[in-house]
Amino acid sequence: MSTPTSLATERPRLVHTAEELRAGVQAARVAGRRIGLVPTMGALHEGHLSLVRAAQAACGLTVVTVFVNPTQFGPQEDFDKYPRTLASDVDALAACRADLVFAPSREEMYPAGCSTCVEPPAVARRWEGECRPGHFRGVATVVLKLFNLAQADVAFFGQKDYQQAAVIRQMAQDLNVPVEIRVCPTVREPDGLAMSSRNRYLSADERRQALAISRSLRWADQLAAGGERRAAKLAEAMQGVLAEAQIRQIDYVAVVDPDTLEPVSELAGPAIALIAAKVGTTRLIDNWRIERT
Ligand code: AMP
Repeated sequence: MSTPTSLATERPRLVHTAEELRAGVQAARVAGRRIGLVPTMGALHEGHLSLVRAAQAACGLTVVTVFVNPTQFGPQEDFDKYPRTLASDVDALAACRADLVFAPSREEMYPAGCSTCVEPPAVARRWEGECRPGHFRGVATVVLKLFNLAQADVAFFGQKDYQQAAVIRQMAQDLNVPVEIRVCPTVREPDGLAMSSRNRYLSADERRQALAISRSLRWADQLAAGGERRAAKLAEAMQGVLAEAQIRQIDYVAVVDPDTLEPVSELAGPAIALIAAKVGTTRLIDNWRIERT
C-alpha cells in the first residue's frame, strides 16, 4: 500500500509558465531522460490517457500539456463552451503517472505582440482545412511552440484526428524539428463511438444517433473486405448509414490516400475513410483505416 508520502510524489508537477516548463525538462535532459510530449486541450478521457501511457512506456519524462488553444477555433466555434476540467485532468494524469503537466494561460502562450504563425503544409488543405479555415494554422503554430518549449524527443498524437497527425508530421519534417511523431490508435467506447471531449455535449438521443458515424466507417470496411474497390461506392454506403440515422449535416465523407489525404477513386492499397458531421449542434469527426484485401 502506498504511504501518503509516496502518493504525494506520484502526482505530476503542475506548472503554468514557459520558464517552469523549460526548467522541468532541462533537469530531465541533463539526467539523460527521453522526453515524451502529449499535447491536449484537456477534458481528458481514455483516448488522451492512452497517449500518456504510451509516452510513459517509451520515455523517461512524460509532459502533458493542457491548453484550449484559441487560435485553432473559428469565430463561430465552441471555444467559449469547450470543457475546462483541469483539477480532474490532473487527477487522471496522476493515475497514469505523468510527470509534468503544463497548463499555460492564453497570455503565457500568446503574449502581447506575438504575431508569427506556421503556414500549414499541403496535407492541411482539404477536409478539416476546408471546413475550418485557419484551424490548422492554429494547430501547427501551437504544436511547434510546444515542441520548442518541451524539447520533446517523441510526441504522441491520436489517429482519431488523422489529418491533424499528418499535418504535424509534415510540419515537423519540413521545419527540421528533431522530434519523432508517434500516432496511437483511436480509443472507442464499447459501442464504437470514438472518444472525444465533445461527446459530453451530446444528449442521450444524439449519443445514439452519433453511433451511425462509426457504424458507417465499419460498413465501408466490410464492403472493402468483401471486394468493393470503388471509393464512390464506399462513400455512398457511408452516406446511406448516416442518412438512415437522420444525420444530415455532413461536412464530408471521403476515402483518401493515407499519406496525401487526396481522394482515391479505386482501392489500390490501404486507404482512410473520413467523416465529419454534426449531430445536433455537436460537430464530430472519425476515421477508419481500410486495408485492401
Ligand atoms: P484534443 O484534446 O482533442 O486536442 O486531443 C489531444 C490528443 O488526443 C490528440 O492527439 C488527439 O488525436 C488525441 N485523441 C483524442 N481523442 C482520442 C481518441 N478517442 N483516441 C486516441 N487519441 C485521441
